Amino acid sequence: MNIGAEGEGLCTDIMEINRPDDLVDLANLGLSLSEAKRLLAGVQREIVAAQAREHAVRRPDCSRCDGVCRVKDYRNHAVATLFGQVTVRLARFRCAACGGIEAGVGWPAHCRSTPELDRLQAHLCALMTYRTAADLLEQMFPVDAGKHHATLRRHTLKVGEALGKCAATQREPATSAIVVTLDSTFIRSCADGERHQEVRVGNVETQSGGRQVFGAVAKAGTDIRALIRRNLNAVGRTKDAALTAFTDGCSGLRRVLAVAGVTTRPMLDWFHIAMRLQHLKQIANALPAEGPAQAEAKAVIVAEVERLHWRIWNGKAKDAQVSVDRIRAVMHHFRGEPDRRTAIAPSRKLWTALHALDGYLTGQSAWLVDYAERHRAGLRVGTAITEGTANFLVNRRMNKSQQMRWSRRGADLLLQVRCAVYNGTLGSGFGQKFQPANDPCPLMAVAA
Ligand SMILES: [Zn+2]
Repeated sequence: MNIGAEGEGLCTDIMEINRPDDLVDLANLGLSLSEAKRLLAGVQREIVAAQAREHAVRRPDCSRCDGVCRVKDYRNHAVATLFGQVTVRLARFRCAACGGIEAGVGWPAHCRSTPELDRLQAHLCALMTYRTAADLLEQMFPVDAGKHHATLRRHTLKVGEALGKCAATQREPATSAIVVTLDSTFIRSCADGERHQEVRVGNVETQSGGRQVFGAVAKAGTDIRALIRRNLNAVGRTKDAALTAFTDGCSGLRRVLAVAGVTTRPMLDWFHIAMRLQHLKQIANALPAEGPAQAEAKAVIVAEVERLHWRIWNGKAKDAQVSVDRIRAVMHHFRGEPDRRTAIAPSRKLWTALHALDGYLTGQSAWLVDYAERHRAGLRVGTAITEGTANFLVNRRMNKSQQMRWSRRGADLLLQVRCAVYNGTLGSGFGQKFQPANDPCPLMAVAA
């Protein structure tokens, strides 16, 4: 092995690799994973040993009096790295003049792992469960310390905590138009007497494709309003930037936006209407059509749901009542249909969904706009994240299974890491996951 420029330094044998010569079996081709892991671990040990030797001849200056430091004693430090656990023998120094102790390294107190390992663990944990991340790391790397899922969780939350403290930096050039969306969703709580916790998530987007996502569990210590301001600055908000805001219709979110300085009137995100309409369409299509009267009634309902979609899309939500009334007028054809053993009757489902949509539109009428007109003008009708910010940011990782229950702090800090992974602000060199303008078409913008 060679440290430094070619020809200098020390050579060490790390391992002998003996692979079969015949390639009859494809499995014999090249290095195996276990060999690669042993090789990496061996290289790592030698590099660390060489670094420690180099480091040992250094003598730090005394930070108090500029006196000369001498070695006081040596201490062994066990450090987990991405390429195995290493033990580093480090000298501690004492100033000959004033007797002060110098460490000679700027390592954080009680650190037992490298920042790179911590960040990769956090990165993986942001995308998959702690257990899966632990498994994956163990499969791929010669990690032999800090691979328990509880350790990964602890490290990840620590990274999340540190992310909350770091200052905002402007990552994009100054921009004059920004779209802000704010949504809420719920995750299951592990606390006694509390079933769910509210999670607020959002994203800011610029015309050039710059995007930042953010989120916070309510009452968990992370201030969502501060996050909004920070993210607006990160995408290059100027003093008189035009802001467009979308929400899911919750009045609490509108207040949050206002306090965060987004004073333009928030619109109802088309995504949320489209989801409800899609649900209604599926139910209408699942209605039975036994006999001509019922078939005719079903055709009326299916057509009227399409018209409802067209009306809302075209900013004529006031006329939605007409569609709702027409559907109600023929619904008696499905009455008396019994609930099946495993499912609620489609007619009952339709009634419930229709009632919910009607109430939603009435409650949200002030925040509805002519989506078709905006779309024709090339303006946004909602978030550019096709599956919705809440699903993308929270549900995919934190609501996957019913068994996942979260502590307020644990969920909040993991969410900070998850956002940082997507925003590329984890500082790990793994890059950001968003492509510029990766979703140029407004979601479900196809009008009836
Ligand atoms: Zn000194």
